[in-house]
Amino acid sequence: MEKELIDSLISGADKLCLDINTAQAEKMLEYMDAVIDRNRVMNLTSVIEPKQFIETHIIDSLTPLPFIPEGASVIDIGTGAGFPGIILKIAREDISLTLLDATGKKLDFIREAASALSIDIEEFVHMRAEEASHKSEYREKYDIAIARAVAVLPILCEYCLPFVGLGGCFIAMKGREISAEAASAEKNASDLGAEEPEIKGLILPYSGSERNLIIYTKKHSTPEKYPRSNAVLKKLAR
Ligand code: SAH
Repeated sequence: MEKELIDSLISGADKLCLDINTAQAEKMLEYMDAVIDRNRVMNLTSVIEPKQFIETHIIDSLTPLPFIPEGASVIDIGTGAGFPGIILKIAREDISLTLLDATGKKLDFIREAASALSIDIEEFVHMRAEEASHKSEYREKYDIAIARAVAVLPILCEYCLPFVGLGGCFIAMKGREISAEAASAEKNASDLGAEEPEIKGLILPYSGSERNLIIYTKKHSTPEKYPRSNAVLKKLAR
């Protein structure tokens, strides 16, 4: 594997104080190769240039690491091609990872690629988030729910907070200028049982792109009527 790519991953992560070793970096790059390869026959990502992939999908996926406690159970909601979940799991073997997506073909890809690389996934959930979290086996069962590029924040809170147990967190991975989005989610997040979020801004090391992690801690149990149906949620997007 190209040393230059390994260096670019390790030193880019290091600029954000995220520590990964060579073996982990190699595994992440092998996963990248699997995504780029499968992308020829299946739409997984528009980013296929390796250096750009390293920043957009790998380093970005690592940014929540400091907020994930040792041994946490983590559910990645709308994981797509496995981001951020797979990258977090390669960096931190101590977490127990569940991947949820409405698209079965993407989960099939991840299952195959993860197994080839001996990445241990606790569970794959092929369901819509707003259906899965009404089931007792998933509801309020995770220390951390996380999502990147799935929906606007008021809807995303409703997708994700019902999965989080009391005292756990939902981490929304967002781009720049999130204050209006965060304000529009305020009432819904509180109704769903969350405290005021903490917002951590950061800058990606190569492009200088801004990112924000919006971290909601669960203070109260989510009332049973949430999440509401997709038809109701769609109206929150307007
Ligand atoms: N998190 C990945 C993928 C983002 S694309 C990344 O950042 O690269 C959005 C993904 O969310 C798609 O795979 C889509 O199938 C899934 N998704 C969107 N709405 C969903 C819902 N309500 N329940 C489950 N999955 C959903």
